[in-house]
Amino acid sequence: MTNARIPLAGVIGAPIAHSRSPALHGHWLKRYEIQGFYVPIELAQENFEAGLRSLPLLGFRGVNITIPYKERVLTLADVITDRAALIGAANTITFRKDGRIQADNTDGYGFIANIRQNQPNWQPKTGTAVILGAGGAARAVISALLGEGVPEILVANRTRNRAEMLREHFGARVSVMDWSALPEALPKAAMLVNTTSLGMSGQPALSIPFERISPKSMVCDIVYAPLETNLLAQARKKGCTVVTGIGMLLHQAVPGFENWFRKRPEVDEALAAAVLEA
Ligand code: NAP
Repeated sequence: MTNARIPLAGVIGAPIAHSRSPALHGHWLKRYEIQGFYVPIELAQENFEAGLRSLPLLGFRGVNITIPYKERVLTLADVITDRAALIGAANTITFRKDGRIQADNTDGYGFIANIRQNQPNWQPKTGTAVILGAGGAARAVISALLGEGVPEILVANRTRNRAEMLREHFGARVSVMDWSALPEALPKAAMLVNTTSLGMSGQPALSIPFERISPKSMVCDIVYAPLETNLLAQARKKGCTVVTGIGMLLHQAVPGFENWFRKRPEVDEALAAAVLEA
């Protein structure tokens, strides 16, 4: 028996029942035999601020934040990391010992760590990246790719205006292209990333000229349900290097777990299996 306070963490969203984060962190807590808990917390809009602020009093060391609060939480944070500020959203909150609320965004970190784990020879500086989508995930992916030194990023999105906003935000290395220009852009892309929800179970299929993808491209899909999306299956057929989306989810959780439970956790196949089964 010990008098140490049991560390708590969780994930806040609305709805939250679908979240795989409790299975993810629960797997690590068990594996490392940590006497702590990670819980899903559903908060309505009107209770979000009061709910978040009450958590440190209850023994929470931090929380993940998901839809629809990833942008709003920045207005409550006392300390915002550079990458969260650059992305304009946060997914990882830490209640610091000095009482301040720290907001971080680890989605871009998770995206890059997943590629590095699966394709250690990846050379980001060697060519153009084509990004499909201009939502929240695209912001994190683009920010991370720019940080890795990708020289040129072309963004195609159904709503062109959202892609234009990303170009204004991230500057000269980002350009906007029409979806209809993909047949010309795909053969030249060193990297292709789907950040839209297209191809996800229950969503419409992703429709692009798959035959135009270069066999030399690395193709990443951040959709992970199904794990092998049609995009990845088509890319594999072409001989491309492919990276699935589950690793991004797993890696983005590492910094939060380390902050809250004082242990840097491993990302491996057993973790992926536990989360995919959840
Ligand atoms: P979001 O902000 O709502 O953005 C959705 C994107 O998908 C937008 O670019 C949107 O285009 C596009 N889109 C949606 N329906 C479409 C349709 N019918 N036709 C064409 N484009 C469509 O969502 P998000 O947070 O960026 O998430 C996007 C996807 O990434 C989700 O499937 C999410 O589960 C996944 N994700 C995975 C991870 C991971 O760890 N692997 C992390 C974050 C997100 P418009 O701008 O035209 O609406």
